[in-house]
Amino acid sequence: MTIFLNGEFMPIAEAKISVLDRGFIFGDGVYEVIPVYSRRPFRLAGHLHRLQQSLDGIKLANLYSDNEWTAIINELIARNEAQDQYLYLHITRGVAKRDHAFPNPPVKPTVFMMSNPLSVPPADLLKSGVGAVTAQDNRWLRCDIKAISLLPNVLLRQMAVDAGCAETILIRPGSNNEPGFMTEGAASNIFVVKDGRLLAPPKDNLMLPGITYDVILEIAAANGIPHEVRKIAVTEVFAADELLLTSSTKEVLAITQLDGTPVGSGKPGAMFAKLHKLYQEYKQKVMRA
Ligand code: PMP
Repeated sequence: MTIFLNGEFMPIAEAKISVLDRGFIFGDGVYEVIPVYSRRPFRLAGHLHRLQQSLDGIKLANLYSDNEWTAIINELIARNEAQDQYLYLHITRGVAKRDHAFPNPPVKPTVFMMSNPLSVPPADLLKSGVGAVTAQDNRWLRCDIKAISLLPNVLLRQMAVDAGCAETILIRPGSNNEPGFMTEGAASNIFVVKDGRLLAPPKDNLMLPGITYDVILEIAAANGIPHEVRKIAVTEVFAADELLLTSSTKEVLAITQLDGTPVGSGKPGAMFAKLHKLYQEYKQKVMRA
């Protein structure tokens, strides 16, 4: 596997960083995951825009312009074998004597990118759907930043694995007398389907603005699928006809069990079937363009 580290391409076995890297010491950095189909990055502009938002969110300068990123990304894709890949892009505040405050003067950020083969979810998973559990969203209040400090997400996602499930759906407590509300999954965005309507939580500081989330809402708008972006109460999650999970590597999956209880019919529903088909068609169209 060939990786990119601080301006150079090299075999992963040769890649080394300092133990004083602020990513290692503090989790002080941001990342992106970009899917690549038939050697072409998918929705690259959206990923580079979100990367800039994340960098702005942690007050770290972007070393490269979008054109420079595009060139590096294309080179990394070319140097790796798989037709379909997912790129992991990681930037930290660099190497400095350990001190919480930013290094002054600033040091050079560490920039790392690797590629792995991407396989879309297998047919049996599309047919059965996946299980999920719910848990209190105990993360910070800047979940819109794609930060590498992922300890809460790691612990929350492990709760799903320990329960034999694929994902943990996160619930924030409501303020005053309001009910709790859903934010997203530990590593995905979540949609609720009720009476033929697709419901999505608003992009705010409490969730990651998913690139796949955007694609799904664009597809819904373009195909006359009734949809609404608004706060979703926890009661609506448990009363859903269907629940959908989206991410760049999982695309769209049906959640058919929640906390051990069937969601709706307990099988992937009509909205899932429609959106999954339209998503595949959209991908094909973009890749051919
Ligand atoms: N929310 C969280 C917390 C995530 O980690 C991810 C990506 N794994 C997503 C949402 C989905 O984002 P995207 O569609 O851009 O992969």
